[in-house]
Amino acid sequence: MIDAPAPPLFDVTADQREIGDLSRTIAEREIAPHILAWDREHRFPRELYAKLGDAGIMGLIIPERYGGAGADYVSYALAIEEFARVDAGTAVTLSVHLMIASAIVRLGDDAQKERYLPRLAGGEAIAGFALTEPSAGSDAAALASTARRDGDEYVLNGRKQWCTNGSYAGVTMVMFRTGGPGPKGISAFLIDNDTPGIVVEKVTEKLGIHTSNTCDLAFDDVRVPADALLGAKGTGYTMALSALGAGRIGIAAQATGILAACLDASVKFAKEREAFGRPIAANQGVSFKIAQMATDLDAARLLVYRAASLCDRGEPYALAGSKAKLFASTAARKHAGEAVQIHGGYGYTTEFPVERYYRDAKITEIYEGTSEVQQLLIARSLLGRFD
Ligand SMILES: Cc1cc2nc3c(=O)[nH]c(=O)nc-3n(C[C@H](O)[C@H](O)[C@H](O)COP(=O)(O)OP(=O)(O)OC[C@H]3O[C@@H](n4cnc5c(N)ncnc54)[C@H](O)[C@@H]3O)c2cc1C
Repeated sequence: MIDAPAPPLFDVTADQREIGDLSRTIAEREIAPHILAWDREHRFPRELYAKLGDAGIMGLIIPERYGGAGADYVSYALAIEEFARVDAGTAVTLSVHLMIASAIVRLGDDAQKERYLPRLAGGEAIAGFALTEPSAGSDAAALASTARRDGDEYVLNGRKQWCTNGSYAGVTMVMFRTGGPGPKGISAFLIDNDTPGIVVEKVTEKLGIHTSNTCDLAFDDVRVPADALLGAKGTGYTMALSALGAGRIGIAAQATGILAACLDASVKFAKEREAFGRPIAANQGVSFKIAQMATDLDAARLLVYRAASLCDRGEPYALAGSKAKLFASTAARKHAGEAVQIHGGYGYTTEFPVERYYRDAKITEIYEGTSEVQQLLIARSLLGRFD
């Protein structure tokens, strides 16, 4: 792995760079030595998140008064990128955790902030997000799970699919239907995962990101206090979209980290591997692939940092986040394939990490809004809606 830090593409402050460097050091020390085994065993390293809590990473964007580091979104993007460079599974675990912490900071009431943020910042609790259902993915407004008011409680029923962190989460932001059909009938709740009646129905086996946990959650007559409601009744869909808007910066940063890892591995291998009496890097068929990879990495970084910086300045950032996610995920998937190609047969074996990058990259084009959904949003911003 190449040790040089990312080139100063963007005007990052010393504090932001320090968080990126700290993340790199922790990822290299705590994850890199174990990643082969963890990936093979599909192991969620729960103990890692206590260490990340101690280091301030679990509370990166949580205000200091709740025990967090009070950092900004550019720092968050740098951190996620550095973790993804070593392990994309850890990066998504962190990204979803911080996406929900940030949603609680922005949307929660004082009691919810006091209750959850210190535990999330310390890594004692991990946060999850549950919007998708078996029949409602991209069309999330079609969700069918229900929350029925009964006195001082809500009674929850339904199935949530592919919840990242689900088996290990202490708190999950879950969307339920509290009214009629469509987005306005949806409300968001902050649910303690140990509430009686919540069952982890299935842990999903996946192509990649094996160190992340993905599971289905079943709610059968689960009773929660009425103050588990996040924000106003009927605003849950808007809140979910708001959380995902910020989360997409994290997934774009995850894709950028995978791309950076592909470049590191490809440069190293192309210089070391010899064929026909010279390094394979001497062939333009190889070196031009690497040139394109480096150029797309810079472009991905600039798009990610721009979206994060807009968010930090309190300006609209959703469109910039969609463009960053679309570009970075497409580039990560494409160049992970090129990285395997550059490695030849070795690239297809587990002796080199690029087969893992190849498996991990694909998901960045799917979750938190597929590439087609990002294109839909970008097109709408230019052309308006036709429905
Ligand atoms: C590993 C993993 C982790 C996940 N984590 C979470 C999580 O933590 N929380 C959560 O709530 N969800 C999570 N998801 C769900 C994820 O966000 C959805 O899979 C994703 O939004 C796509 O929904 P879908 O799979 O139902 O695909 P569908 O919506 O059924 O789409 C299938 C295909 O049709 C395309 N398509 C659909 N509608 C349109 C359209 N209007 N125009 C053009 N193309 C369209 C899609 O782009 C896609 O290619 C996770 C999924 C995975 C695999």
